[in-house]
Order: sequence, then C-alpha cells, then structure tokens
Amino acid sequence: MSALSVEAALERILADVGVGPTEGTHLAGAYGRVLAERILAPISLPPWANSAMDGFAVRAADVPGRLRVLETIAAGGVGRLRVESGTASRIMTGAPVPAGADTIVMLEDTESDGGSVSIATSARVGQHVRLEGSDIRAGEVVFEPGRRLTPGVVGVLASLGIARVQVAVRPRVAILSTGDELVEPGLPLGPGQIYSSNNHALIGLVVAAGGEPVDCGTVRDEPEALRAAFLAAAALADLVVSTGGVSVGDFDHVKDVVGAVEFWRVAMKPGKPLAYGRFGGRPFFGLPGNPVSCMVNFLQFVRPVIRRLLGDPRPFLPVVHATLRAPLRRSPGRVELLRVRLEREDGHLFAIPAGRHQGSGNALGMAEGHGFALLDAESTEVSGVVRVQLFDREFDDAESPAYGWGEIPAADGPCC
Ligand code: AMP
Ligand code: MG
Repeated sequence: MSALSVEAALERILADVGVGPTEGTHLAGAYGRVLAERILAPISLPPWANSAMDGFAVRAADVPGRLRVLETIAAGGVGRLRVESGTASRIMTGAPVPAGADTIVMLEDTESDGGSVSIATSARVGQHVRLEGSDIRAGEVVFEPGRRLTPGVVGVLASLGIARVQVAVRPRVAILSTGDELVEPGLPLGPGQIYSSNNHALIGLVVAAGGEPVDCGTVRDEPEALRAAFLAAAALADLVVSTGGVSVGDFDHVKDVVGAVEFWRVAMKPGKPLAYGRFGGRPFFGLPGNPVSCMVNFLQFVRPVIRRLLGDPRPFLPVVHATLRAPLRRSPGRVELLRVRLEREDGHLFAIPAGRHQGSGNALGMAEGHGFALLDAESTEVSGVVRVQLFDREFDDAESPAYGWGEIPAADGPCC
C-alpha cells in the first residue's frame, strides 16, 4: 500500500476522468443541473422599449403641461397612434412605449379627466422607459458551459424564450456497504451488529454533488459475494463507490477482489485507506468503513470526480477563512480535516470544533459541522485564521436571527 499526499491522490484520480456526456432537458427539469452549452441571447431583453410604470407616455419637452389623451395601452397591447406634441397615451407597466413618446410620467404625478391629462412636474427624456436591450443584447454570450443552473439562471433562460438546454448527464453512482456487522435502519440489531449509515450518508452526498445515487445495499465480507456485487454495480452505474473492507483486517477482502485497483494510504486525518482504480470498466472507489472517514474521503476525492464529469470548471468545495475561537494543540504528521462549526459575529467568521470530539468515529461532527478546517501536516499549535472547506453552504448563523430585517411579529393564531 503506497503513501500519497492528498494533492497527489487527487491528481491521479482526476487525470483519469474527463467531462461526461450531455443531454437535452426542458427548463422545468433544469434546476440544479450543469449547463453544457454556451448560451447566446436569441433576443434582446427587453425585446422592445417598454414602460416601467403605470402612467402616461409623453414627449419630455411637452411637460409640464396639459395634453390630449390618445388611447390606453395595456401590457400585451400595442399603441396604434403616434404621440405628437401636445398629446399623450395612457400606458401600463410592461406595455410597449408608443412611437413618438420618449418619456413616461407616473400616474401619481398626473391628473386626468379621461380626454386630457394635466402634468405639473417636468420630466427627463427616457424617464421610466426600459430601453430595448438594456438588460441583454441579442447575440451576446449570456452563460458559458459549466454554469450551475440556479433559479436565477433558469429565470433568465426562460426570459430569453429558451425552452430546452443541453446539460451534463447526471453520473449514476453505485453505492455499496461492505461488512458482516451491518444492518439496515428499521430492522432489529443482533449481537455484535450496528446500523449501516454510510450508504445513507452517501446517497445525500451524491445528490448534493449532482449525481444520481443507486443504493446497492450491503454486501457480506466474502470475496465471491463482493466480486458479484461490484460487477453488478459496475454494469449499471458510471461510478462505483464501496465502503469498508479496504484496511488490513482479516476480513478486508475488497483488495483481493478488485484487481487493477490501487490501495493508497493518503496522508490525511481522518481517512487514510483509499482504493482507487478501474473495475468492470468504471472508476471504482473503495472508501474506508469508518463513517467520518467515508464522508471525508467522498468529499475530497469522489465529489470532484462527479463535478468533473458534470463539466464544472471548479470541481472543489468552496473555501472560506475563519478565525479559530480557541487555539488547538495537535500531533504533527498528516494534514488534518477538522470538522468545524462556523459562527458569524460582527461580520467575522469564527470556527469551533464540531461534535463531541474529533475522533474519526464521531459522526456528530459531520452533522453539526459546516466545513473542514484544513490544518497543515507539520503544525503543532494552531490559532488565528484557518482555511475552511465548506461542505454545508447553508451554515446557520447562531449569533444573528435568520431574518435580516428586524423582529418578525409572532403569529397570533392558528394558520388553518
Ligand atoms: P472497515 O473499514 O470495514 O474495517 O470498517 C471500519 C469501521 O467502520 C468498523 O467499525 C465498521 O463497523 C464501520 N463501518 C463499516 N461500514 C459501515 C457502514 N456502512 N455504516 C456504519 N459503519 C460502518
Ligand atoms: Mg468491514
């Protein structure tokens, strides 16, 4: 088993994967996907000059003054008459600005009696007019491949009239747990048995990474059963992820079964044993069985592969800087991924170790933490600012209310 740095392991793994295939999707199914084409605006936005207000379309030079009203233009309608000097057309928000008019005066600044309108204020040319192409010009590049389809991006595509887009195919990720001691949640525990958690945590991690999980259940610590299960998984998925059985224990058979796969000791804490290679023609990851190591390894090595397959130009977790609330002592040797909770106070981020302790078996740290503080291999005392890789981008903010605009009045009765 060879020893490798985290960077070297990642480099070896990423050298083996390229951008995956693409498919078309209707906009309704586009949220959360990764764009696989460059989007050029087929039309300008707005497509024509329109009114930003309910009011009157006028010539700026005519106001203040009293003007004859020609017609009313609703959103969805088109003015028939040209606004000449001394005239105005009543217009609603979103309606096209009629020919001849260069300015909109808002309804609140006018007084009309049906046939004519009095405007007491002066106006600037172009006031309350949304000009053609002022948001996006026809033909310009709006989005590049690799763009995450957030609700905002999907909204812009819809505004441009684009009904279908080319997106990266979600890689199917087969998930297998290995271990004779494992029992699915919901079933009674026998002597010596524990509940299998890795496959469940991995389902969420795969979905969050943009993949499609295929839970292949638990396999016994028995070479033939493992081989059959891994082959079946490789046949139905793009990527195979198994957990457990990659150490040096008597029943760690994964390495005997998967042939060309290499076994590495990655110099990081937690989570050193890692198997990676091709099995059944698919990239195969053998993650450690320990629940924390399993999640740490997934986030460091499998998630970037999924993001790479999806064509994400930035396949790594985002990193923020935070100040450790208290100094830490540690034993040097390997880089360490400390599970930390983040808190914001007076605009600064602070990091606090998460969970009851940092032992690699303490799964609470992954539930309560928002990220990994990345500690250098050689450090013995750590204080001050650390880099934190976020695995939970929506970290809650213990020090301030989630609602940012002041007190929310308490509800005073049942809602239904
Ligand atoms: P292994 O890598 O198979 O030696 O397992 C290391 C530790 O992780 C052992 O304590 C296992 O019981 C535990 N473990 C292995 N697989 C799972 C799993 N799917 N869910 C929870 N714990 C597991
Ligand atoms: Mg095991």
